Amino acid sequence: MEVPNTQENMMKCICGKCPTFVAGDKGFFCSTDKSEKDLEQMGCDCGGCPLWGEYDLNGGYFCTEGKAG
Ligand code: SF4
Ligand code: SF4
Repeated sequence: MEVPNTQENMMKCICGKCPTFVAGDKGFFCSTDKSEKDLEQMGCDCGGCPLWGEYDLNGGYFCTEGKAG
C-alpha cells in the first residue's frame, strides 16, 4: 500500500536507528522513494515501524528498493 507523505507519518519513521541507514540521509523511504546514496543492506528495521502494519507493508529495504505501493 502507498504511504502518504505526511508530517504525521514521517515522524513515525525509525530508519534513523537502522544499521543500513547512513547519517544525513532523508529517511522515510517507503513514502519518498529510495536513497540517492549507495547503501549496503545491513538489516532493515521497517518491520518494527508503526507504519508497517498501518499500511500493510512488506519486503522492507525501501531505501534501496524504492517506495511502497
Ligand atoms: S516503514 Fe521503514 S521507511 Fe517507512 S517510515 Fe517506517 S521505518 Fe521508515
Ligand atoms: S528502509 Fe529499512 S533498511 Fe532502509 S533505512 Fe529504513 S529501516 Fe533501514
